[in-house]
Amino acid sequence: MQVVVFPSEPSHYDLIRSMGTDAEQGNGFLRCYITPDELRQLSGKGIPYEVEIENLNAWSASFGSRGVPSGYYTVSELDEIADSLATNFPEICSREIIGIATGFSNIYVLKISDNVGEDENEPEILFDGGIHGDEVGGPENMIRFARDLCLGYNNDPYITGLINEREIFIIYCLNPYGRNNMTRYNQAWVDINRDCGYMWNAEGNSPSAFSQPETKALRKIMTENQFVMHLSYHSGTEYISYPWSYRQAPTPDAAQHNFLASRYAAVSGYTSIPYGQGFTGMYAINGSTKDFGYGALGAISWSVEISLSKQPPASQIVPYYLKNKQSMLEMVEYSGYGIRGTVTDANTGEPVPATIYVNNMFPVHNDPVAGDFHKFLVPGQYNIKVIANGYEPATEYSVPVTDRSVATVDFVLQPAPSHYARRIISCRIPGNNPADEGFTPAATGPPDNVRYSIGRYGWVVLDMGTPVADAEGADITVHENDATPEGYQVFAGSSMDGPWVLLGSGTGTISFDLASGGLPEAQYFKITDDGDGTAQVSDAGFDLDALEAMIPAPPPPDTTGWIEGIVYSPFPLFEPVADAEVYTGIYTTFSDNAGRYRIQADTGYVKLCAEKQSENFYKCDTVYVASGDTTNHNLYLDMLERANPGEPAMPCIMPNPAGNSTVLLLPKLTADATLILTDLSGRIIARLRRDGADTIVLDLSPYNPGIYLLNMKYPDGSVTTQKLIIIR
Ligand SMILES: [Zn+2]
Repeated sequence: MQVVVFPSEPSHYDLIRSMGTDAEQGNGFLRCYITPDELRQLSGKGIPYEVEIENLNAWSASFGSRGVPSGYYTVSELDEIADSLATNFPEICSREIIGIATGFSNIYVLKISDNVGEDENEPEILFDGGIHGDEVGGPENMIRFARDLCLGYNNDPYITGLINEREIFIIYCLNPYGRNNMTRYNQAWVDINRDCGYMWNAEGNSPSAFSQPETKALRKIMTENQFVMHLSYHSGTEYISYPWSYRQAPTPDAAQHNFLASRYAAVSGYTSIPYGQGFTGMYAINGSTKDFGYGALGAISWSVEISLSKQPPASQIVPYYLKNKQSMLEMVEYSGYGIRGTVTDANTGEPVPATIYVNNMFPVHNDPVAGDFHKFLVPGQYNIKVIANGYEPATEYSVPVTDRSVATVDFVLQPAPSHYARRIISCRIPGNNPADEGFTPAATGPPDNVRYSIGRYGWVVLDMGTPVADAEGADITVHENDATPEGYQVFAGSSMDGPWVLLGSGTGTISFDLASGGLPEAQYFKITDDGDGTAQVSDAGFDLDALEAMIPAPPPPDTTGWIEGIVYSPFPLFEPVADAEVYTGIYTTFSDNAGRYRIQADTGYVKLCAEKQSENFYKCDTVYVASGDTTNHNLYLDMLERANPGEPAMPCIMPNPAGNSTVLLLPKLTADATLILTDLSGRIIARLRRDGADTIVLDLSPYNPGIYLLNMKYPDGSVTTQKLIIIR
């Protein structure tokens, strides 16, 4: 049954907690999901209560047949709006399936950013709603926020700036089954907000850490991206709840959490909305999204409770959204303040996957693709240490951070053999251990005599970042380096969820061989305590200092070289051209005042291009680059051909007229243009995605013979048009 109780003293809270029941904190009350027997215990203690729903099963079953309350979007309506945003704003909005929920609905994420198809060097922020299906306001907020962002692009300068400078991810309905059937739970009757793996403790019917497809989908998007902030929307009270939820001690990032929550509250439309740590301000829970977001990934990860009622009347949907909209925008803005930078290889300039430790806070990770990291910090001076497998660590001391701004610190690392655990995926200390500090990051990086005590019968799953291969002899060393060595078992797996293969057991610092588990390689390792000793004392259970791969991953091979030379203007002058953009593959540079350039390039035959946009000069050559060598090559630019000089560049269509296919050659001058194919009446036949390519092969077979128009639309509003003729 669903009961609201009004506890007034600590013993009341202790009794409720001892029941191991689900409960949510309201303002001066707790909403509990309990059995009639448990209610008798509460009333026996004289705790006042009100029964809200007598029979939850019957209630949710009746709701199931009624569906979503009238005036609220159904899941399929939410999907339709999301789809229309991705269709109508393809340059800034994409929609992707991140999992299939219980009940076989897709779980989608919307990404809203400029160059939406690329993972750019920009701070990332995640919003989600509907994790508890009966808390109907979250998805309503999410889909309206997505729509306002898309509609605001190029109309509202603040929103346009945020979309250009940030990557905004929105999971508008994380638990579609719960929404369709108006239940807190998913179809397996599991509370997804107890199923996350960081300090998981078997609450909310969760059978194991990350057991549910909804939780796995959230984990996927959170581990494949690097969110500065993650805000998860709930209702049933009004409160901003930050980590920890599982323990009373504040996080080392409490200053960041508290500052941002105070901003959220101040900018919001609530007369006052309280905020604080989940454990103290709400109720102690394990397996929450926010403890995973912060504990494993270092994100500023919250629950935002937007309305006292889980299902306010439909007339309140928009008012509640508007109370939060400005705060949501402001959090997007603030996700770009603090520190940012890239981590790259000193020899190749390539991004290096790294873990970034700021003072004693829980670390963040950089993007392996763009190499960028971002972390919000309140004003102060910070020491930033970067640890990456295959490289020497690097530290930057006393980096000043000021209000509403960002300090950029780029790290260029020297290769050196090393391979240690890069991050924590999941962990459990049965029944929790408040007597220990629970500092899981101690288990990442090289041995340093700072240890994470995994708890009596506790376990931890670590990610080595890249697979460890089975070689001759031992492959992995578990470091304890402790005066009182303790017992444990080591398992290996090739996924975050196993299956776990036992490598062996030991005491203290010991090495293990993957061959003993019959595995050719493994990236994830699970260490479990042997159960000796006492549970709720400091240093309970095995004390893990580090996990080390014996044969470190070799530094990446040198797959790049250099090209240098001079850029000359077209015939007949052949004068050196300053400030010409020179590019090959992912590398770009500009010529100096003497027309000289030097650029990195992949080895082999590469396409080297240069252009001077203001002069309409352009040229591409093919150049051979040897590994580690410098190739000399001068570039003689051509005057770009165009119908009317001064007009924006045009693509070249070959052949034209065409039969079943043709090729568009696109000069880089057209990079920011959108390509749209229409018929003569202006009806859109196709939008062409170029994704950075300079040629597009156009399949014309679906279209009837006739005359079509290829339109290039530029950001300044100008449009150029070319005829494309199809004959067969
Ligand atoms: Zn909730």
